[in-house]
Amino acid sequence: MNTMNNYKAKVIAVMNQKGGVGKTTTVMNLGVGLARLGFRVLLIDADPQGSLTVSLGVKNHEELPVTLASIMNTVMDGSLTVPTYGIVHHKERVDYVPANRSLSGTANALKTAENREYILKTYVDSLREWYDFILIDCLPSLGVLAINCLVAADSVIIPCHPAYLSTKGLGQLFGTIGRVQRNLNPNLVIDGILLTVVEIWTRNAREIIDALRDGIGKRVHIYTTMIPKSVRAVECCNTGVSIFRHNPSGKVAEAYARFTLEVLAYGNEAAKAN
Ligand code: ADP
Ligand code: MG
Repeated sequence: MNTMNNYKAKVIAVMNQKGGVGKTTTVMNLGVGLARLGFRVLLIDADPQGSLTVSLGVKNHEELPVTLASIMNTVMDGSLTVPTYGIVHHKERVDYVPANRSLSGTANALKTAENREYILKTYVDSLREWYDFILIDCLPSLGVLAINCLVAADSVIIPCHPAYLSTKGLGQLFGTIGRVQRNLNPNLVIDGILLTVVEIWTRNAREIIDALRDGIGKRVHIYTTMIPKSVRAVECCNTGVSIFRHNPSGKVAEAYARFTLEVLAYGNEAAKAN
């Protein structure tokens, strides 16, 4: 038994059914941000596109034999014995579970599986004792695999472009989260909305954001930190490293470092409130 640490991970699903809003970028950089502060972090790629896996520097991700898909298959057939099997270590001190297209097949198989909403949770719960944080990079969908992510999680972070915040997509997401809270995971909470790819310097963006904070921000926490739009963030996805290595003194690294502290502080606030 490990007597020095008592990890019992907080599990955060990073979710928005809209693609291209910065989910993967956020999982990578929040994860490394937390690891840089000394936390033990696991990133789970739960998107058949495998963008997180590619961002972490894996070149041949479609050929990987052990991925989230094969692991979830072993949970479904009851043969998962060593929960840490298949976990990969990244040089920036985060661990990860990779994914590729085979996860689509698993998502299909889930539809008819026994306990289909709880397959990912079974796996994630078996890993909680090894980590402080487990971050799930969700696929852009609200299907059964996405439901698995919400059932496995303690909380949700929603990355969002300011321009899309007021659209009905977010209403659908809140509806799905509400149903999961009522029927499957009553402890699930929304940690907050993270504004990403923000052109902070434009007046138009500032006006939209002020209106959002006055509107939806009254119901759902919106993080103070916004991630600015920057080509550095785009480049970062192809380098296999986080923004903290790719462009350590840039404004995106600075923003993700601040966001990491906010996630920690707000988590403590929420814990105090309970
Ligand atoms: P998602 O996982 O929601 O689909 P990604 O994190 O993959 O979103 O980001 C979508 C695209 O936007 C990627 O090409 C990524 O490089 C880019 N991107 C992410 N964050 C920023 C940012 N802060 N500024 C500019 N481009 C960004
Ligand atoms: Mg993604």
